[in-house]
Amino acid sequence: MLKNNGKKAAICVACTACLCLLLTLLVAVQHHRVQVEEQMDDGEDAGARSLLQDAAQLDGAQDKKGFSAYFTKLARGRRDVEKPEGSTAGGAAARANADPPPAEDISADDIFIAVKTTKKFHQSRLNLLLDTWISRNMQQTYIFTDGEDDELKKKIGSHAINTNCSAAHSRQALSCKMAVEYDKFIESGKKWFCHVDDDNYVNVRTLVKHLSRHPHTQDMYIGKPSLDRPIEATERLGDNKMKPVNFWFATGGAGFCVSRGLALKMSPWASGGHFMNTAEKIRLPDDCTIGYIIESVLGVPLTRSNLFHSHLENLQQVSKSEIHKQITLSYGMFENKSNIINLKGVFTVEEDPSRFRSVHCLLYPDTPWCPPQVAF
Ligand code: UDP
Ligand code: MN
Repeated sequence: MLKNNGKKAAICVACTACLCLLLTLLVAVQHHRVQVEEQMDDGEDAGARSLLQDAAQLDGAQDKKGFSAYFTKLARGRRDVEKPEGSTAGGAAARANADPPPAEDISADDIFIAVKTTKKFHQSRLNLLLDTWISRNMQQTYIFTDGEDDELKKKIGSHAINTNCSAAHSRQALSCKMAVEYDKFIESGKKWFCHVDDDNYVNVRTLVKHLSRHPHTQDMYIGKPSLDRPIEATERLGDNKMKPVNFWFATGGAGFCVSRGLALKMSPWASGGHFMNTAEKIRLPDDCTIGYIIESVLGVPLTRSNLFHSHLENLQQVSKSEIHKQITLSYGMFENKSNIINLKGVFTVEEDPSRFRSVHCLLYPDTPWCPPQVAF
């Protein structure tokens, strides 16, 4: 009896131990879940949270495919962050890869460069561009503005395009201009569409070299995001239904390029009046709408390049010795201070506050107005 009782007790102890272990495991699993959920509630993980929410919304039939597609997208996003295309800070791999053989032999004539401007900036901003990089690239540059300007017409003729869009800095007015840029590009038959703002310097030689790394028939969307995570937006589906969407977009202020292959696929959401409707559906500005169509609708990822620069980043950090390797530059204000590249150059900061004239003389020293430079 005693023996039996002892056995029972032993079994009970063993059972209790098992139960405890099981409980501990359950608590651990539960705790882990709570931790994950807490992280998700934290603002830090908003991007990841939305991607997961999106994944959770996929219907049953699509679940397996949808989830794996989403995680591939997440992983791809991470890879993109770790290895920016053409990065100047990308280490040995990027340097070894500095000059891969061109995938397609293109010239500047194959690129359509759209400059977005507004009448009040024709004097203060556009003239600087016309004197510098545009003067060397009249054939591929098109200026999208919102008012008539005979002086501008004299300089660039039919490449000055009055969009007749409103001159306001509203979301609708900016989307209106982007819609015209897109349509004119399609009409031009050129291989690449690049958009820049009127405070961007474009190094067209580097741009050509860079774009020639990809066939224009491939789906390519190249630029630099201004956010460190996908933007979270709400898509209006009609019937008052809303759907959260998350996507990366290249900031318009740094400039971005889209291959013709991809631009043609964008047509149902971008051509004619469709671009404005699409922009209204997500209520975001023009550059975000481009990102939405490409990443969210068409599923083509943004290819990051650190060679595009907006004044939303600290331009002092552009390496002095690598200025000639950059595709775009900018100037402006950053945290209430003038944000310009660090270039000694042939003009002083007073003479050339944007530094664009100095950059231009560095790239094209034979320009008549560039002071003669001593070669070392
Ligand atoms: N812009 C415009 N209409 C406006 C104001 C600005 O088309 O009413 C254009 C401007 O010419 C530039 C771009 O929008 O190409 C961005 O403007 P800005 O650099 O002034 O602002 P940011 O967004 O860079 O701070
Ligand atoms: Mn700007």
